Amino acid sequence: MREAWASLALCALLAGACAPRGPVAAASASPPQPRTSALSAPKTLEHTFALDRELRTFTARVCPTGALPARLVPGMGAARSMLTSAAIERGSVRLPLTAGEQGIELAQLQPGDCVRYDLDLRSEGGGLGAPKLQRSAGSLMVNLAALLWRPLDYGTYTAMSARFELPEGVQASVPWPRDPGDPERYVLDASTFAFHAYAAFGALSVRHLRIAGSSIELAILDGLSHEREAAIARWTEAQARAVALIGGRLPRERIQIVVLPAGPSPDPIRFGSMTRGGGASAGILIASDFDERALMSDWVLVHELSHLLHPFVHRQEAWVSEGIATYYQEVLRARAGLQPVDTAWRRIMSGSEQGESMDMSLERGAATMYETYRFAPVYWGGAAIMLLADVELRRRSVLDEARPRSLDDVLVELSRCCGAGSRPWSSSEVAERFDTIAGAPIMRDLIASAVRGQTFPKLGALYAQLGVDREGRPVAGAPLAGIRDAIMRAPAPSLRAATADGTTPAP
Ligand SMILES: [Zn+2]
Repeated sequence: MREAWASLALCALLAGACAPRGPVAAASASPPQPRTSALSAPKTLEHTFALDRELRTFTARVCPTGALPARLVPGMGAARSMLTSAAIERGSVRLPLTAGEQGIELAQLQPGDCVRYDLDLRSEGGGLGAPKLQRSAGSLMVNLAALLWRPLDYGTYTAMSARFELPEGVQASVPWPRDPGDPERYVLDASTFAFHAYAAFGALSVRHLRIAGSSIELAILDGLSHEREAAIARWTEAQARAVALIGGRLPRERIQIVVLPAGPSPDPIRFGSMTRGGGASAGILIASDFDERALMSDWVLVHELSHLLHPFVHRQEAWVSEGIATYYQEVLRARAGLQPVDTAWRRIMSGSEQGESMDMSLERGAATMYETYRFAPVYWGGAAIMLLADVELRRRSVLDEARPRSLDDVLVELSRCCGAGSRPWSSSEVAERFDTIAGAPIMRDLIASAVRGQTFPKLGALYAQLGVDREGRPVAGAPLAGIRDAIMRAPAPSLRAATADGTTPAP
């Protein structure tokens, strides 16, 4: 699926804000009992999740304090059919609840009660591009949005947490941080419910990799040999180190990567997606018969990790987010030696021709790509915008050394200030922050000229100035040859050595 844009589109959809947002709807048939346990009680939610050994049922127990939720709603509409039962637990009493179109109504909920619901994990399939729930031999990869029923006003809770009760032999991998004072307890924030994320349960191979200052939890579902699992760990490390070449470190301190063996395929990766619910969480469907050399040079994981350089952007404006990830999937693999520099330039050049092929503005192409299924021009058109921005930043920094030297510098700063969070950004907001960091209206001007312009700019003159021929080879004597070489050059060895802090297997 190297260029399987339909799959990438679904990846994008999965990354989207999935939870219904907005104010809490008024509870219907308000009960006479107080809806707040105590005026001073903080508004909190404690979750306990349990699975059975066969991974057939997911049971959640949600215990609120403070103002009580009016209802619980699923994180994705398609998850409603998984619900088999719901009840209020009041001491030893169980009061059955019914779920309607609006979710599980909690009008009877009283202070001290908990809500329990059960989901049938056998009732959902999920295709290649939408791994809502997929099984390996004895394990399960699931989109947490399908499991987490939540109050509509989840953003107003002062504290939220979760624990797992798992039978012997069943492991869990989730992207959430652990409570330092209680490692069995996970700390949830609003992003947990605002965005999708992946979890893996069952017979997992879990490794903890320390790469360039970040912790990567690599969870591989069962079905592969130990040798293949080791190859996946090597690939993860190589691709993560490539991304860490930007600024010397990965954009997040913690990243979870869930890898599901998805049957034989001519391409090593069948699907990839980066999500952000409660932490950075990548889902990868890997060919069970992958060739390790092909896997090492593949673009998907570098692309997905590069998404952590920017905040979540509205999907209708995906030229920004996909532009960043598509540009860096080529540049970083070249810098890390995972693909030849010529190949990177050739792919960027042929990609920008895809942008030029659009018969509408890039802005309109992005807004309509889920109707037209013309994803490639948006991804590669966005990558061309990032090349233009990178060249401009580098060109200006020659004139003024105080400015950011490159797109790397701006995105490192952007990821530090704004990469996490629990709301989608508009392209204008990203551009405004970008330009503030850059100290010049570079992205604003590019949006006005190249993103909103009726025809996408032809970049032939730029490639001539950079000195890149049709095969991606360097042309001597080009005026911007220094910039061309700097874009694809890995940082100095001293910086790379500083990031090489080793890989430690899980205890
Ligand atoms: Zn992407």
